[in-house]
Amino acid sequence: MPDGFGVYLHVPFCLSKCPYCDFCSFPGSNGEDRENYVKAVLREIEERGFPVRRATSVFFGGGTPALLTERQFDALLSAVAKKYGLSGGAEITFEMNPATADREKLRALRSLGFNRVSIGCQSLDDGELRALGRAHTAEDVFSAYEDALAAGFSNINLDLMYGIPRQTAGSFAKTLAKAVSLGPTHISSYGLIVEEGTPFFDRQTTLGLPGEDAEADLYAMASQTLRSAGYLHYEVSNYARPGYECRHNLLYWRQGEYAGYGLSASSHIGGVRTTNTRDLKAYLASPASSVAEEIVIKDGDAEYEYIMLALRTGEGIDEGDFSRRFGHDFRSTYREKLAPYDKRGLLSFAGGRTALTDEGLYLGSALLRDLLP
Ligand code: SF4
Repeated sequence: MPDGFGVYLHVPFCLSKCPYCDFCSFPGSNGEDRENYVKAVLREIEERGFPVRRATSVFFGGGTPALLTERQFDALLSAVAKKYGLSGGAEITFEMNPATADREKLRALRSLGFNRVSIGCQSLDDGELRALGRAHTAEDVFSAYEDALAAGFSNINLDLMYGIPRQTAGSFAKTLAKAVSLGPTHISSYGLIVEEGTPFFDRQTTLGLPGEDAEADLYAMASQTLRSAGYLHYEVSNYARPGYECRHNLLYWRQGEYAGYGLSASSHIGGVRTTNTRDLKAYLASPASSVAEEIVIKDGDAEYEYIMLALRTGEGIDEGDFSRRFGHDFRSTYREKLAPYDKRGLLSFAGGRTALTDEGLYLGSALLRDLLP
């Protein structure tokens, strides 16, 4: 089990609902809705009987957490700090939509102790932002970024997306170049997934989505561009300046432990994964007993999950750690399954680690399916 303990708080409100989004998020909330929700999360933090460990990371995700007021942020962060305690240098992140935060609020959040901000940018092309139904422009991203810097944030993530309707290699190259020119410490670049149940799903044949091959090229472009700009490609979809890998997300990928509060939030503690309800009414009525799913991770599943998560990261599988945890040797157990991928140059073996190469990271899902016990 890696060192560290994370706390996640989910804020399910957004300015509007993006037509591709299947996250647990609702448009059109008012001040009273948000206040009632914050009170419920505070109750959940106080009443839910998680074992208490000092938190090394706290992450306010959503939704659009920046819709909360400074007082609400303060109340939630103070409740986490009171229950868990925050380790020195804890990474404390909030997500924001470029249209939702102003310099004053960013300053206030910085002084409350937030030290990392994740800006949901997706694209720096206004046509693509419109196609995605985003509630902001490229210019909003630039001013949000400047505001974050002026407020004292030196650890900033930009979320980008590829595979956007009508996106071309040229437009993505421009977005990447502009993003790099801002100088963020971290960039995430996720492929658009058209999820069932979203408006995009019903319109997917007419959206002008780039095909699979074009998407693979866009992925490779992101990896090449960002690596040559000095970013580490440390997870399938994530890039960071050395030392700025997201500690909270690394906990997820290393099977670390975390407590999640709020609608749809997941927790992983003591080999059990729980996920809260997505039903807002039910959550508000009984926030501390709102678990909708509980999975006890069995030994075989733990091993597969370990492989799957570790191979998503640039550092791959630590073979020593693997044998300590599971009592057998990774490479000899999976020799036959690994061989064809090794032959294609998709794997690297060095320093006691097995990792996917850059090309392997993109094609990794087929390998992961093959490794299923
Ligand atoms: S801003 Fe993010 S969470 Fe909110 S609707 Fe859009 S994609 Fe979903």
